[in-house]
Amino acid sequence: MSITVVGSIAFDSVETPFGQRDRMLGGAATHFALAASLLDQVRLVGPVGDDFGDAELAVLRTRGSNIDDVERVAGGKTFFWKGKYGWDLNTRETLDTQLNVFEHFSPKLSEASRASDVLFLANIQPGLQLQVRQQCEAAKFVALDSMNLWIDIARDELLAIIGQVDCLVLNDEELRQLTGKPNLISAAHEILGSGPSIVVAKQGEYGSALITKDDFFALPAYPLHTVVDPTGAGDTFAGGFVGFIARQLGGGLSGDVLRNAMAYGTALASFNVERFGTEGLESVQAPAVHERVADLDRFARFDPIAVELIV
Ligand code: AMP
Repeated sequence: MSITVVGSIAFDSVETPFGQRDRMLGGAATHFALAASLLDQVRLVGPVGDDFGDAELAVLRTRGSNIDDVERVAGGKTFFWKGKYGWDLNTRETLDTQLNVFEHFSPKLSEASRASDVLFLANIQPGLQLQVRQQCEAAKFVALDSMNLWIDIARDELLAIIGQVDCLVLNDEELRQLTGKPNLISAAHEILGSGPSIVVAKQGEYGSALITKDDFFALPAYPLHTVVDPTGAGDTFAGGFVGFIARQLGGGLSGDVLRNAMAYGTALASFNVERFGTEGLESVQAPAVHERVADLDRFARFDPIAVELIV
């Protein structure tokens, strides 16, 4: 199986109480791909500017991810995001968002990217997510992430694309904002009635919750003493979650598969937050991932499904 992902490929400037980085490689699709590539073949889709160097392209290619559909736009500037975290890392302020090459991007996917069985619409303008969804008619499993900015300025388009996916992965408070429902379970069930059969509510350092028509499963974040930069944790979680599903899709999506997918997402996100930017996922090794997945069994019950990782 292969996974096609569209979403931001970015330069991020980030300030946390533990340090500061200027214009490091980031973006929702980038973080997703670094995680999902441990589990399956990934194909990235999106534009970058000519300020995007070969070193950054090499990181996108980690573990064999395919970048044939990453377009370097001559004279263009790469998407830029700047954020600052509060002292406990639970609050984040966006200081700048520059869409740059994404502003006039019109995705035209290669045959190979259109043919993927799994599609992840990572955070970007909902209109672009919709264009990519329309080109991937063969996809058997489609998941989507978004954020408050798009709920604020492109709500109708966002609702339209949510109606065409199997799984919505969204922050807890954004689910409430999107539906106007203060209760998380009611909010998730409203989404379940509109197309998706799976909703995952991301809850930052408190973990994540999986809600389907008949099931509820919550997993705390992996407990860590050192967290330096939470940027991209949600996308890394999604990479582990969707990557595991892609790996198991042939056998059907049982409750056990979904619970194991939650565990992989949670374990991989923990490596992301221990270092700045993409550093943690670039260097992560399979035994360490397996150890954390197995360890999560202490906090919530699931029957482990063994998978060999791609390294
Ligand atoms: P997360 O911490 O999971 O919310 O993801 C942070 C990543 O999302 C950063 O690497 C940013 O480059 C990217 N990002 C921030 N704002 C946006 C946006 N409006 N659209 C797409 N990606 C964004």
